[in-house]
Amino acid sequence: MNNTLFKKAQDMLSTIKLKNKLIHEERTKEIYSKIQRIAEIDKEISNLGISLTRSMLAKKNSDEALEEFKKGASKLNMEKCELLVANGYKPDYLDEVFSCSMCHDEGYVDGKLCSCLENLYKELVYKAANLPILMDEQSFDTFNLDYYEDNDDEFSPRKTMEIIFNFCKNYALTFADDSKNLLMYGGTGLGKTMLSSCIAKEVIDKGFKVYYQPAYRIFSLFESNKFSNEQDEAIKAQIKYIFNSDLLIIDDLGSELVTTYTAEVLFDLINTRINSGKKTIINTNLSLEDLETIYSPRISSRLTGNYTHLEFTGDDIRKM
Ligand SMILES: [Zn+2]
Repeated sequence: MNNTLFKKAQDMLSTIKLKNKLIHEERTKEIYSKIQRIAEIDKEISNLGISLTRSMLAKKNSDEALEEFKKGASKLNMEKCELLVANGYKPDYLDEVFSCSMCHDEGYVDGKLCSCLENLYKELVYKAANLPILMDEQSFDTFNLDYYEDNDDEFSPRKTMEIIFNFCKNYALTFADDSKNLLMYGGTGLGKTMLSSCIAKEVIDKGFKVYYQPAYRIFSLFESNKFSNEQDEAIKAQIKYIFNSDLLIIDDLGSELVTTYTAEVLFDLINTRINSGKKTIINTNLSLEDLETIYSPRISSRLTGNYTHLEFTGDDIRKM
């Protein structure tokens, strides 16, 4: 659990609660000015409440007083509902407003975390992981294998994809300190980014720190950090994430301008993460041979020895 993000989620829920309170106050004001009898009714209900409290405190005939209160209040509430409906409103228009009917925007039910607060928190965690795909729309459950072409071939894109999909799902569900690093390679638009995002979501849900960045962005962060005079805290924080997250996803490696400097950065990053036992997923449109030629033999040797390779084949599914 990330305490800072959880605190932020709680603050968001407080804002929601406040907004709902304001909506309720606005509605009350509106109705009081339009239907004055309702203002009187509320006053009468409140007076009934006051006399009930008095009887309770004086401890005389309290059962009787409670009965009387219930009867009176229910009659008045009925009249109120009828008036609202007669004026074209819903009967519950003046009820308190809650976004979550389970916890009434408190965030907890019987001392247990309510799903509304949990979802606010999860959204913040997904956002912090910088995932490129809206996670409520994409997950292993919604991933559609039908986009991949099938034929009699034992290694048709569809059959190959099914194997990769199952591998990735299992990888995500069993993610742990001894998981492997992954190298996903193959042509553009075959679902590498999508599948790695699905993995990210599952791994985040298991409580691990996940960080996604396209390769070009990683290199530009390192460049800004190295060559700028100013100490940019935001950049430093992102670089820390790149080194320390439990799972780093480097997307689209090879689309950046490769220089001696970027090759150095890449080697250092891959190597440091291997040595510290942190897991990395690299997506690239380049072949293994290309990686060796474009970067360096020592990078490709790291990617060969320490990474599980997943080759994506077929036609760009985004065209379908
Ligand atoms: Zn709730």
